Amino acid sequence: MRASVLPGPDLADAALCCAVCGHRHALAELAWRCGACGGVLDLAGFTSVIPPVAVLSGRPATLWRYAGALPIAEPADISLGEGMTPLVSAPDLPGVLLKVDYLMPTGSFKDRGAVVLTALARQLGVPRMIADSSGNAGTAIAAYAARARIPCEVYVPAATSPGKVAQLRAYGATVRQVPGSREDTAAAAMQAAGQPGTFYASHVYHPFFLHGTKTYVLELWEQLGGRLPTVLVLPAGNGTLVLGAYLASRELLAQGLISQLPAIAAVQAAGCAPLASAFRRGLAAPDEVACEETIAEGIAIARPARGAQILAAVRETGGTIVAVSDDQVRDAHAGLARAGLYVEPTAAACWAALRAGLIDIGPVPGDRPRAVAPLCGSGLKSKPPDS
Ligand SMILES: [Zn+2]
Repeated sequence: MRASVLPGPDLADAALCCAVCGHRHALAELAWRCGACGGVLDLAGFTSVIPPVAVLSGRPATLWRYAGALPIAEPADISLGEGMTPLVSAPDLPGVLLKVDYLMPTGSFKDRGAVVLTALARQLGVPRMIADSSGNAGTAIAAYAARARIPCEVYVPAATSPGKVAQLRAYGATVRQVPGSREDTAAAAMQAAGQPGTFYASHVYHPFFLHGTKTYVLELWEQLGGRLPTVLVLPAGNGTLVLGAYLASRELLAQGLISQLPAIAAVQAAGCAPLASAFRRGLAAPDEVACEETIAEGIAIARPARGAQILAAVRETGGTIVAVSDDQVRDAHAGLARAGLYVEPTAAACWAALRAGLIDIGPVPGDRPRAVAPLCGSGLKSKPPDS
């Protein structure tokens, strides 16, 4: 392995700590959920140090410029140049900016978490990685596993489109097609994850993924001259971007680099909105809802494993969780394309919520933007909403 580009953190005290009961696992145990109670694991024993803006300006234009805030050093031969995506103005909404995360190496924001997770897999010397996803997360993990020369298996529902399967195979991943639902696919992956030496590169369960998605907000903060917008509008299925954004906002606040947390406004698809329903009803955990098919398939998650954390994070920031209909997503998708921005339907959900006025973004701003939303996945990765 080549030397790191920038110094990495001391991980001697780092561990995975259960969010429910506090039980700890060493990183090398390759645990993906709590061995005592089954709860989700967070990263403990790591202190983020966000570099000052003056130092950042001389660093390479990748997310690894935030060394010190990331729980692992950059392995120079794994990076695909991910990060530092552009910010552009939104069509027809003053004070709203869009962050063009579909310009990441595999076409979605998931590269932020996948590269950090794969860097850990490489450092631990694991013989193989597995992932489960029918969409952007699986593609991202497969690409970085290929880059790191770690054998990778990706579990996908049997109904996954041939184009996505072809992309996974092109990266060299072994594709396991599982009959039944998305939940059946996850169950098959979890069973395989129990085999010794297997690194379950789960974007949902592994907290290193969230420390990668954190860079979305660190970049925003830097790009806006050391400020954040009033509202962060973010898609929420499994909530990996919501939780990463929350982590970054907390770290910026703790280090005195911002004076208040931005409100997080999470957006779900109306056909599958367990978090929006729980938020509305004041519940601490995702609501039990029936899920229908939606064109925003990337956020259609009936039982998000980190749902309680997402709800708590949004409430702490004074934010909200809303749901948009397929018609609203379809219109937003078309509107973005007419403004030169071709995204997958899921990536239009946040814009749909803003356009529909579902999110209070305050008055026209003085010195900071009212809201920023990500364009999180490329339109070239999925079928158009009207096909
Ligand atoms: Zn536990």
